[in-house]
Order: sequence, then structure tokens, then C-alpha cells
Amino acid sequence: MEKGTVDRIWKKVFFGCCGAAIVLLVPGLAFQMSTALYLSLGILAAAVFAAGIALAIRGMRCPFCKASVYHQAMRAQEGVPFTCPKCGRKLEVK
Ligand SMILES: [Zn+2]
Repeated sequence: MEKGTVDRIWKKVFFGCCGAAIVLLVPGLAFQMSTALYLSLGILAAAVFAAGIALAIRGMRCPFCKASVYHQAMRAQEGVPFTCPKCGRKLEVK
């Protein structure tokens, strides 16, 4: 059976956004800043984080049936195939 691939770039996008969200929050914890500024940083961090998840979910789809394989792909090691929960085809993060 033909194997499908899920682009690993989406994993990087996801972790990149997580990292960016943390970086946005760190100054607020380390330095004293006004509540308003801290809140806006928090909202920005949440937005970056949400965008990362949304992009990863959108990007990590089964190439055969277009079902989201986000959970499977995030857990899968690179080079280790996993199965699409919808159509049962073998997929690989590459
Ligand atoms: Zn599928």
C-alpha cells in the first residue's frame, strides 16, 4: 500500500509558536511591568500559541482522506509510520 507523508514543517511551526509564546511571557515574569502591558503580552502569547496549533492542525492532514492526523503526527517519531485514524492508511512524518 502506498504510504502518505505529512510534512514535518508543521511540527516545527507548532514548536516555533510555543517557543515564541514562552519568549513573550518571560519578560513579564522576570521584570516588573504594568498589568496592562503584561496582559497584552499574555494575549499576544495566547494568540501566537493558538495560531501555532491551528496551523499544525490544518497542515497535518492525511493526504488520502484529508482527515486531521495532528494528534498522531505529533506523537509519531520521525521515520516511524503511523496509521490514519479515518482511512487506516500508513502515514509518515517527513
Ligand atoms: Zn486518511
